[in-house]
Amino acid sequence: MEKKTVVVALGGNAILQRGQKGTLEEQMSSVYGTCEQLAEMVLSGKWRLVITHGNGPQVGSILLQQEAAKESVPPMPMDACGSQTQGLIGYMMQQCLHNILDARGKGDIPLATVVTQVLVDKSDPAFQNPSKPVGSFYTAVEAEELNERMGWDVVEDAGRGWRRVVPSPDPVSIVEKEFIGILVKNRAIVIASGGGGIPVVRENGQYRGVEAVIDKDLAGERLAEDVGAQVLLILTDVPQVKLHYGKPEEKALSTMTVEEAKRYMEEGHFAKGSMEPKVRAAIRFVEAGGERAVISSLSQAGEALDGQAGTQVVRS
Ligand code: ADP
Ligand code: MG
Repeated sequence: MEKKTVVVALGGNAILQRGQKGTLEEQMSSVYGTCEQLAEMVLSGKWRLVITHGNGPQVGSILLQQEAAKESVPPMPMDACGSQTQGLIGYMMQQCLHNILDARGKGDIPLATVVTQVLVDKSDPAFQNPSKPVGSFYTAVEAEELNERMGWDVVEDAGRGWRRVVPSPDPVSIVEKEFIGILVKNRAIVIASGGGGIPVVRENGQYRGVEAVIDKDLAGERLAEDVGAQVLLILTDVPQVKLHYGKPEEKALSTMTVEEAKRYMEEGHFAKGSMEPKVRAAIRFVEAGGERAVISSLSQAGEALDGQAGTQVVRS
């Protein structure tokens, strides 16, 4: 039987649990648990696996380190910090997934992380409207100072203090897509586009990193199109997509068509910055020719991939 390809987009809880500090041991242990689930997909013999992941807490810590050590080490901009998280998370996944597969007699499966740049459009309206909060909280005085000295956009974040906001532009294309395709065709498990990819713009034929954050689910969708995946599996911390989320009349969905998804999105059922981009990615993937997109929790990954759990997003 010809194997199908699945792109799995892992949420924050796949790497770090709420309330943890983020030591390497903690992160390795979560990643190990995640990789046990992913290994089952590979061991079933039915799937070629491509993995992408978020990096919010990890890039937050690295940004904090830049600030804390700025007198002794030159601080790195966001694109550079994002590239560091791809290396860190890729390392943990490569090691855990290899160790698990090796113990099951499949240590010969090649496995690698691709440091991935994702092209964004310089004229994307997001650049005029920075909206994604990143890094630490500041006082109003610090906020003003950072705005003057660093040119940062700093806004008040829900009464919790002031915070830097950066643009969140739409991913246009994955720069390393050909190479990723070569690896997948040669039966490798690939980890790519981590943290939504390193955002770059193209100027006079040259790529240049920008200070922005691309949504990892939307970038994962581009990746899924580029590798010709049949399924996009978005794993988060809720088992299904809900209507009237958090209200008494809340209703979990086991399937929705693209048309229904669009209507629910317009009706405002999905929170911006969390569930909305997942549903948007699912719609895009199915409209671009994908068989189905699935949104589910990490603990039900296998059943969701088999169509037995989660919310299945289908053409009609
Ligand atoms: P991830 O790290 O997996 O991307 P997010 O926090 O960005 O996680 O998105 C998952 C969250 O989306 C859930 O924890 C849930 O609180 C929230 N959410 C918002 N709207 C909905 C909805 N309609 N149905 C289910 N979850 C929703
Ligand atoms: Mg998210």
